[in-house]
Amino acid sequence: MIVDAQGRRFRNLRVSLTAACNYACGYCVPDGKRLQAARHELSAAALLKATRMLIDLAGVEKLRITGGEPLLSPKFDAFLPAAMALPLKDVAVTTNGQLLARKADLIKAAGLKRINVSLDTLDAGRFRHIARSGDLATVLAGIDAMLDAGLKVKVNMVPMRTANADQILPMLDYCLGRGIELRYIELMNMGHLRYGGQYRRDFIGMDDLLDAIGERHEFTRTDAPYDSTSVRYEVPGRGYFGIIANESEPFCSACTRLRLSSNGRLYGCLSNANSHDVSALLEAPEQQARDGLKQVLAAALQDKRSAFTGEVTVMKFIGG
Ligand code: SAM
Repeated sequence: MIVDAQGRRFRNLRVSLTAACNYACGYCVPDGKRLQAARHELSAAALLKATRMLIDLAGVEKLRITGGEPLLSPKFDAFLPAAMALPLKDVAVTTNGQLLARKADLIKAAGLKRINVSLDTLDAGRFRHIARSGDLATVLAGIDAMLDAGLKVKVNMVPMRTANADQILPMLDYCLGRGIELRYIELMNMGHLRYGGQYRRDFIGMDDLLDAIGERHEFTRTDAPYDSTSVRYEVPGRGYFGIIANESEPFCSACTRLRLSSNGRLYGCLSNANSHDVSALLEAPEQQARDGLKQVLAAALQDKRSAFTGEVTVMKFIGG
């Protein structure tokens, strides 16, 4: 197994099916233009081959299907059922939920157990302001469809001081009322946010979040798995919420994540723009592909930083 000096190895793989997205969220893209697919995106079959090899060579145990917006890609329909048949402990999907209701039958039939839906507000006007596209009611219907199908749903919200700070409590109440675990993601200093004042203006840290939640709820911190990105809290008798506290409580020393972009580049670290193109390797003869991939994995592990310092890389390319 390939392990680094801090004992880290790759257990969690995030595969971006496409860089294209039907939203244009202000923290992801600067100009309000919807994202397009990357040039030379890999087919579902090639992404699956890469996933199989990474399970075998890196010891990947968990897979998250992401994007861009994964449900927007025609590859999703073939990739999901095939991924469910791989020898993995867990498969999950991260989506903005806009197409969830339409894909509900496929998701149910594939046997998916967990889904994360990104949603930053319950106010329809504010929703359009943040996502610059899409429709709130459609996302809420998609969430209901997943709950009805018996999936475990988590909702991801990025709290921002000027955009949705007043939604911190309504979002928690909505989630607690439905057995959904809400995870607040601290705004990450990535892409265009590294320039200009938006990041400093909008960032809400864990302490401020907990103060806001404490105005209405009592909660206690609970244990989270070793390599979890989230600090987890229990609201007694009501449920759980989490905070992905990149800045306030970084989890880099226990990070086990590896990202595969839709155009076949492996990223060992979200805070490092270094990437390794494996698209040609996937077409090489078996042994050559395996040897090449082992070298790439060792290099990708070296890319892991010991602290999240942000990066100019945009989330759209490497998935959340
Ligand atoms: N389209 C899918 C979705 O919306 O969930 C998957 C991709 S999206 C890039 C994954 C997650 O990254 C979303 O929850 C989004 O809110 C989050 N995200 C994107 N840019 C971010 C940033 N600068 N800081 C914090 N979270 C960010």
